[in-house]
Amino acid sequence: DYSLGEADPEVREIITKEKERQFKSLELIASENFTSRAVMEAVGSCLTNKYSEGLPGKRYYGGNEYIDELETLCQKRALAAFNLDENKWGVNVQPLSGSPANFEVYTAILKPHDRIMGLDLPHGGHLSHGFMTPKRRVSGTSIYFESMPYRLDESTGLVDYDMLEKTAILFRPKLIIAGASAYPRDFDYPRMRQIADAVGALLMMDMAHISGLVAASVVADPFKYCDVVTTTTHKSLRGPRGGMIFFKKDPVLGVELESAINNAVFPGLQASYLQGGPHNHTIGGLAVCLKHAQSPEFKVYQNKVVSNCRALASRLVELGYKLVSGGSDNHLVLVDLRPMGIDGARVEKILDMASITLNKNSVPGDKSALVPGGIRIGSPAMTTRGFSEKEFVAIADFIHEGVEITLEAKKLVQGSKLQDFMNFVTSPNFSLMNNVAD
Ligand code: PLP
Repeated sequence: DYSLGEADPEVREIITKEKERQFKSLELIASENFTSRAVMEAVGSCLTNKYSEGLPGKRYYGGNEYIDELETLCQKRALAAFNLDENKWGVNVQPLSGSPANFEVYTAILKPHDRIMGLDLPHGGHLSHGFMTPKRRVSGTSIYFESMPYRLDESTGLVDYDMLEKTAILFRPKLIIAGASAYPRDFDYPRMRQIADAVGALLMMDMAHISGLVAASVVADPFKYCDVVTTTTHKSLRGPRGGMIFFKKDPVLGVELESAINNAVFPGLQASYLQGGPHNHTIGGLAVCLKHAQSPEFKVYQNKVVSNCRALASRLVELGYKLVSGGSDNHLVLVDLRPMGIDGARVEKILDMASITLNKNSVPGDKSALVPGGIRIGSPAMTTRGFSEKEFVAIADFIHEGVEITLEAKKLVQGSKLQDFMNFVTSPNFSLMNNVAD
């Protein structure tokens, strides 16, 4: 029984380098965080050795008495962390991540070709909410279900609820999905509930990005209005990589959510290869994270995530940046760089060179997803590292410097032979396929 360093120095070294990268850079990707040593200990434990298909007390393998104890504890803590009454809400803690959790909900409550409406990907939604383009059904969700994404009002950067309502009345979706990957504001759950009720749809919230903020009650509570709530566990919640599905225990529109969702997780999506046997090491880590999520310290942390993000947003506005929706109520800001004359892809690259890690992001009105006009900046990870508002103001200044350097570089290219080369290769007569067999 060797340690990693003894058994495999090559992998050990890669992990050491990655650790150094994580600790020496400014980690601003809104969907990332640093989980605790205690969570990592559970994730790196013997729990990884055990198969346990089924639910506590109803397994397809023997030897699960402690795994049953663990999963039941994890479920209890999940409900307690989100202040849910065990008689009214249930939870499945087995989804391997956020995307399978979402597909498990769809499989549970929809038939093939039933209609769904989620926020459009270029406007901040997630791929798994039914993304498609006029030419192509991109996500599996849009292949198996009929998807009609709703969008933001481009003049305000806020969800266009009036348009959502009008479209829902015509499209008659069976499921409306709230939640996003790049939306700096809260969703208007009462309004979405009213729209769902008007058209006879179920309402789901994918709170992946903000579940830590929800647990600490620093943003609106989706559980008051939604029938189903899904989440990843590794973003603002700061747990191991995984997913959870919360469901109402009473039937909704004739659907028994509890049995439908549990059956979709297993055997449903196991049989279609999205879900494997439960990852008990993840469930162990998640239980640890959910205990912490009930502590006063966690609430203080989540409040700081929000105040740090506001400090970052205000400084960026002071520096002349345009933010989608004008600011932020949560853990992320979305900067529209187009008025600066630069795109998010180039700025991401330059900042990467300075060990500032964030991501390029589409902003409303963008034409290209590969060279989008914005960047997304999140506060959870650096808040975990102990940063306060003062440091987030400094981060805004660093980013500004990165943008200025990118603009300089762009100017240098424009006045150089490189620009002649660019003009040549992008001219209609030039083909990169010349002399290449295809
Ligand atoms: N839902 C939302 C809103 C997300 O932002 C993400 C990931 O970024 C997911 C689901 C999917 O999570 P995973 O990548 O863990 O499947």
